[in-house]
Parts: sequence; structure tokens; C-alpha cells
Amino acid sequence: PVQRPRGSRRRSADQPTRPEGPLPVVVIAGRPNVGKSTLFNRLAGRRIAIVADTPGVTRDRKEVETVLRGRFVRLIDTAGLEEAPPDSLYGRMRASSEGALAQADLVLFCIDARSGITPADEHFATWLRRQDRPVMLVANKAEGRSGAAAAMEAWSLGLGAPVAVSAEHGEGLADLMGEIAERLPPEQPTGTPPDEDALDAEAGEALATPADWDEEGDAPPEIVLPERPPGPLRLAIVGRPNAGKSTLLNRLLGEERMITGPEPGLTRDAVAVQLQDEVGPIELVDTAGLRRKARIDAPLEKMSVSASIEALKMAEIVVLTLDATLGVHEQDLQIARLIEREGRGCVLALNKWDAVEDRNKQRKAIADRIEFSLSQMRGIPVVSFSALTGAGVDKLLPTVRRAHEIWNKRIPTGALNRWFEGALERHQPPLVEGRRLKLRYMTQAKARPPTFILFGTRAEMLPEDYQRYLVNGLRETFGLPGTPIRLLLRGTK
Ligand code: GDP
Ligand code: GDP
Repeated sequence: PVQRPRGSRRRSADQPTRPEGPLPVVVIAGRPNVGKSTLFNRLAGRRIAIVADTPGVTRDRKEVETVLRGRFVRLIDTAGLEEAPPDSLYGRMRASSEGALAQADLVLFCIDARSGITPADEHFATWLRRQDRPVMLVANKAEGRSGAAAAMEAWSLGLGAPVAVSAEHGEGLADLMGEIAERLPPEQPTGTPPDEDALDAEAGEALATPADWDEEGDAPPEIVLPERPPGPLRLAIVGRPNAGKSTLLNRLLGEERMITGPEPGLTRDAVAVQLQDEVGPIELVDTAGLRRKARIDAPLEKMSVSASIEALKMAEIVVLTLDATLGVHEQDLQIARLIEREGRGCVLALNKWDAVEDRNKQRKAIADRIEFSLSQMRGIPVVSFSALTGAGVDKLLPTVRRAHEIWNKRIPTGALNRWFEGALERHQPPLVEGRRLKLRYMTQAKARPPTFILFGTRAEMLPEDYQRYLVNGLRETFGLPGTPIRLLLRGTK
């Protein structure tokens, strides 16, 4: 079925000889409009043969054999496969897993560096990660200096280092071809001849994307793709013994509709407790830890911290409960630092507010102590209430929701770097060993908690006070109070 296209030049002496048997398959995938066709045309530039025009198949499948850095590959473009059957997006993705991607030796997953990472990109990425196929992340439309910075946002997809290219302007293509050649499986001496019919049939089902995605040149807004399957917000209530955690738990359960029951396979103690507020379900994790307390003869102080550690690991947001009549204890700070270290969102609950005499004074004293001792979590939200009487408890869950939103927040790379440039101008990066550090750009690698990567020459040597300056700036500029913020440093050449 391999035909030489009309008008193609005869194979010249210096051209490598096509090996016998099937070639490694490279599949170009991604949502519509990221530039897959443009990239395909670039890579197919030195085309040897058109493999298939697939008559009878309405979809415009493009497939060639080409040479990249001396390696013969079969290159498949999945662009134009939007007219797939109108079932669900998920169904289409599953169907496509049995298609072109299933035979791919390497998937070039393309994103558009100009428009940034969209929910559709994230969805593809999550799905691709599960396919157990080698994936190379290609950030297209990355021409010029700003393009390279925007391309780095693609780190957040968890598919490794993005390769920045501009298919249209021909930038970065030599590097890309080199990377592709390196990532291909080693050349086979001989192999079984390809079953072209089977391959065609499979590739006809290749990565499908719904036509309506194209309308705005972007992903449809209704597809919201969190990093993990959507589920209840996982909340832990922690604090020292007698802070009023059990009372608070009972208060929350009493006032909200409770769905509770023993989970099969778990210990008798473990009970899943779920609340429902107007936003959705909230699961209280490690409530068993609260109940256990009454029955175990452990030293109370010791147990409260170890129980807190367990709860922290399961939670997204942690309510650190204090007995407000006693102020802030060293052990409270210890738990707060654990929360920050584990990267959880935190809400500070000042309980027993009914029993506090001078409320203004006490609120200020506690706030000062927290700001001073927990500078890593500046702006931590504080709610005061009485679990005993119920007064003020209604403020707690809305505050938890806000903390959760902040913890999940994503900052677009463009806005991030506009701020970053200003921040560098206001305060020059310091000299290290007599040389000024060259910080180049920043990108948010992930949320939950917000995590940023800073790229620059010898960036890894950035002193801590300058890191703090940047983190505080991020916090204030982009509205990230109270959440842990991670800053990762990546030295570039
Ligand atoms: P596909 O749907 O993913 O196959 O995308 P196309 O290859 O059809 O490209 C979509 C649009 O992006 C077209 O208007 C291209 O001209 C444009 N495009 C492709 N590559 C680049 C690039 O490197 N830079 C810029 N700025 N635009 C590009
Ligand atoms: P836990 O050890 O953190 O679970 O604390 P508990 O919920 O068992 O409460 C410890 C003690 O504090 C109990 O005697 C509660 O009645 C009391 N308590 C809890 N919440 C409040 C409150 O809001 N106001 C007052 N005055 N006492 C409270």
C-alpha cells in the first residue's frame, strides 16, 4: 500500500535506506487548533511516501513515512478527527486509546503556549499519563522570548519537560527532531511486516476531539478538570486536647445533614462522616481519631500531635482548633508548621469565644502571635466561635471553602511573569559569589498547594530572603493568603 507520491524526487545516494518491516510510530495529538497540522507538515517535510489516503473514510487522516534525524518513522497526525461520533468526551478518549495512540511508540502531545494550559489540555494529559505510552510534551506557538516562558507553564501537566517549538516559524524543530529520535525504541534489525489493514482500521479511530471545541479556539467552559477525581472536600479538625474538637464536630453534625456509616473493610473506629453545605459534600477525615481519644491511655499531649499528623495526611483543608481563652500554645504552632510542611490549607478556629473576656484584646494577641510565628502562612484565615453554644460556627464552612479555593488556585503564566518582571525591577536579585543571578521566568507547576517554578541562571542559589520576598509578593498580588506556597528553583544554562 506504500506509494511514492507523484513528483517526488528519486531517492538520492545520501538518503538513508528505509529498514524492512514496521517503522516506529509517532503520533501527534492534542486539542484542536494547537498547531498539530502545522507541525505535521514541518516534520513530514522530508517525506518519503504517503502511506494512506484512506478512501472511504471521511476523516482527513494524515500519515507519512519520514526521516527524523536519520530515523525512519511513521508519522500520524490526529488533527481533523473532530467529526467523531457524538458520545461523551470520555468515551471518545477511551475509543481513541484503541486507535492510533495504542500503536504509538511516541506521542507528541501538543499544547498552545500562547493560550496557556486549558482544561481540555489537562484532561488529555491526565488520560495520556494513564496510557502507558511514551509521551513528549510539545509546547507549540512558542516563538520569540515570551513564548519560551509561556511554554514552561506546560510543566504543570506532569508530562516532563516541555519542548518549546514554533511550527509556523520553524523554531526549535531541530531540537525537537533530535529529542524524538532519542526517545524512539532502538532500531530493530527486522520484524514482521506491518498489517496495514489492521493499522488503518485502528488509526481510523484515532484520537477524537469534539467538533464544538473548535468554536472558540479553546476548550468549552463547562469541562472543569480537577487534578483528582471530583469528590468531597476533605476536612480535618485538629488541635490540642480540650480545645473543643469533639464539641465542634458534634455541632457541625447536629446542624448539617449527616451521611454516616461504617465503611466496609475499615476498622470499627473508622467512620466516614460527610456533611453537605450549599457548595457540595465535605468529608470529615479522621473523626475516629477524635473518638478514640476517650478510650486510649496515651499521654494526651503526645497523642494530639500524632493523631493530627494522621489526619493531616488525609485532608485537603485543616481546621486548627484553639481554646481561645488560653491563647496560642507552642504545640498549636507545632501543628500549624506540620500543616504547612504537608502543604495543606489551614483555617484557624478560635473556640470557646463565649468564655473570652476581652475579645478585641485576645483576638489581637492571637493574631500577632500567629503572624510572628507562622510567617510561612501569612494571612491565615481566622474564625472565632463557640462550639458549645453554636454562636459563630456558621462562619466556619464558608471560610473553609474559601481556603480550599485559594489552595486550588492557578495563576496564568502571562500574569505571573508580568508581575515577576516588576518584582525584579523593584528589587534586583542579589549577588551570589560576586555575580548577579539572572532570573528569567516563573510558572505555576501545580496547585494544591500553589507551587511555582522559578527558572534562571544559577536560580538554585537564590538566597532565602529573596525567595521570601517573591513568595510574599505572589501572596499579595494574586490573593493567596493563608495557603502554603511552594517555590521551586530551576537553574538553566
Ligand atoms: P491543529 O488543529 O492542531 O491541527 O492546528 P493547525 O495546525 O491547523 O493550526 C491552528 C492555527 O495555529 C493555524 O492558524 C496556524 O497557522 C496556527 N499556528 C500553528 N503553529 C503556530 C506557531 O508556531 N505559532 C503561531 N503563532 N501560530 C501557529
Ligand atoms: P477535644 O478534646 O478537643 O475534643 O475537646 P472537647 O470537645 O472534648 O471539649 C473539651 C471541653 O471544652 C469540654 O468540657 C467542652 O464542654 C468544653 N468546650 C468545648 N467547646 C466549648 C466552647 O465553645 N465554649 C466553652 N465555654 N466550652 C467549650
